[in-house]
Amino acid sequence: MKKIKISIAALVLIIVLIVPIKLMSLGKKVELDDLKTYIFNQAPEKNKGIQIDYFGTSCFVITYKGQSYLNDPFFSNPNYLQLVTGKYPNRDNLLSKLIPNKKNISLVTITHGHYDHCLDLPSFMPYLNDKPKVVASSSALLSLSPWLKENKKILQYPIERMAKPNWIYSSDKTFRIYPIHSEHQAHIGKSIKLLTGTYEQPLAHAPGPVWQWLEGHTYSYLLDVLDNDTIVSRILLASGEIPQSSLQLLENLSTEKHIDLLLYPYWHKEKCGEKFIEAYHQLSPTKVIFHHWNNFFRDPNKPIQMIRSSDINNELKEKRDKGYPVSILMPFSKTNI
Ligand SMILES: [Zn+2]
Repeated sequence: MKKIKISIAALVLIIVLIVPIKLMSLGKKVELDDLKTYIFNQAPEKNKGIQIDYFGTSCFVITYKGQSYLNDPFFSNPNYLQLVTGKYPNRDNLLSKLIPNKKNISLVTITHGHYDHCLDLPSFMPYLNDKPKVVASSSALLSLSPWLKENKKILQYPIERMAKPNWIYSSDKTFRIYPIHSEHQAHIGKSIKLLTGTYEQPLAHAPGPVWQWLEGHTYSYLLDVLDNDTIVSRILLASGEIPQSSLQLLENLSTEKHIDLLLYPYWHKEKCGEKFIEAYHQLSPTKVIFHHWNNFFRDPNKPIQMIRSSDINNELKEKRDKGYPVSILMPFSKTNI
């Protein structure tokens, strides 16, 4: 009996030691000089006055004529210990570095409920305008409800409760989004997904440790930037994989307007590569920016690391050589389109 107890204790100890070492070693150092040619940079004469602020992972703030849209509020990249304990330090100073002035964020979308897509929602609260709308799966909204209900003006749009899929407009009519059903990629092998499941009731406290952040359902979002009902630019913010039925829907929607910019997650050569090619050929976007490639499981004050996909600069080169107009943005940087 004693032997069994010792064996179990030893096994637990090994797992506790191996998991963090494995997680910590997922990142590979990024050689910034090698990446310079791949940083998105549009010719100034094509600039339509739209600013994109990128915070790493899938967190974008898109601003047009003083109004802003936010996707996936997450920029703080907690370390393993913080993920396990659920105790996250306040890193609002990082946010104020990039957006020192008040933004009028009128529309927020969340692609799914994992921590690396919504953990920093409270940090963005001061930047919301007075009639903000938050669009996400019902499960993600329920998990975030302790934070959302603090701001009484927030209007919540649980996607599964919409009578039928349609455009959702920001109160200022500068943005509209169309939720696109998508599939979260497998974390391990071809089919093992971690942290799946949905919340059916509002939580009393926002999720803490990593395992409390359940995926819910995953959505991509088609975003139109509008000026008096005219579409200034159409951006597809992709998350996970876009199944064929959703690609077909996007193709149908593109009869009204072609996709100018595809923001596509790229964290693994095999897991993202093929599906990207399929989506690219069906949608033919003018430009592509890969996101979610960087800085995972790392303190943002430390050097940038890419994840798993072992050689982002060569993979970008390979794609460009084949004619795909792919670029990246560095975390905590901005660009104009
Ligand atoms: Zn996820």
